[in-house]
Amino acid sequence: MPRPITATIHIDAMQHNLARARACAPGAKVWGVLKANGYGHGLERAMRGLAAADGLALVEPDNAVRLRELGWTGPVLLLEGPFDAADIAMMAQYGVNGAIHCDAQLALLEAARPSRPVDVHLKMNTGMNRLGFKPEAFAAAHARLRALPHVGEITLMTHFANADDAAHPRLTLHEQVRRFRAGAQGLPGPVSLSNSAGTLKTLELGDELASHWIRPGIMLYGGTPGGQTAAAFGLKPAMTLASEIISTQDIVAGDCVGYGSRFQADGAMRIGVVACGYADGYPRHAPEGTPVLVDGVRTRLVGRVSMDMLTVDLTHVPGARVGSRVVLWGEGMPIDDVAQASGTIGYELMCALAQRVRVVEG
Ligand SMILES: *Cc1c(COP(=O)(O)O)cnc(C)c1O
Repeated sequence: MPRPITATIHIDAMQHNLARARACAPGAKVWGVLKANGYGHGLERAMRGLAAADGLALVEPDNAVRLRELGWTGPVLLLEGPFDAADIAMMAQYGVNGAIHCDAQLALLEAARPSRPVDVHLKMNTGMNRLGFKPEAFAAAHARLRALPHVGEITLMTHFANADDAAHPRLTLHEQVRRFRAGAQGLPGPVSLSNSAGTLKTLELGDELASHWIRPGIMLYGGTPGGQTAAAFGLKPAMTLASEIISTQDIVAGDCVGYGSRFQADGAMRIGVVACGYADGYPRHAPEGTPVLVDGVRTRLVGRVSMDMLTVDLTHVPGARVGSRVVLWGEGMPIDDVAQASGTIGYELMCALAQRVRVVEG
């Protein structure tokens, strides 16, 4: 028998969440973002879950090719664009769109003689200071692209730093949009603005965030970028990580649990040992009190997470025994709650699902 830990991928939840994204931004086309192996859900499974998207976006050139091999015939977008000349040739061969965000990429594209024209996303840096041309350099970069016979459609894009906290004192969403509109003024071409956070904000801000394309990722997998809960937005978890209790221990005041004896009982307790550890992708830094669902009852992690096991408090789950079902995150246990307790984000937990965990669909 394999270890009882299983990640169940809910294809129907991705379909549902994609519909939610569309409802947030009516009229916009949707790039379903499936970088990082579909946020840990598997590239092929994410491709099926997001089959109704208008295009699929990622950052790995080899996986762009893989999408074509898997039969995806719709648009594909490389969010970091090409890394070398071979990637531009690949983009032409496989009909892959790519971001152009810096002078080095522009030069690469100017030197290229691809077999067919390539469509690109010209990216503006509106304050995130990661990728993109400054607003004042944007029109010139656009003109250089327009001068190339082997460049097809040019989409205008930017990326938001704080769409989940739109009034951020250092950089408001409003200011990023203002810079984008100013830098892109008068330039033709479709516009692509929002990630999940921006998409969810579109419900409130409406026209200000209007664009031809949105680029949701995390919301499609049932996580949120921050702020409200996934359930409040009507999103369903696309991954349930579940395992079982494989042992129980009755302990008394003064007894400790696990490595480093981090947890010490101050009274009689029952401890459950779960077949899930950091080598499965559960965060080792999860503190005491991180929520865990046992037999449908919300309880707490106690003691340090070890490689293959973690320990939970069963004192108030009297029916729990060896074989009881434990949900680490997913259905019944929002991944954002686990992430927040552990000082991280749902994105990191999903993406870190380990190779050894058996994956099923359901
Ligand atoms: C990852 C990514 C997204 C999706 O972000 P989420 O927060 O997961 O919605 C959108 N646009 C770009 C450029 C990205 O890199």
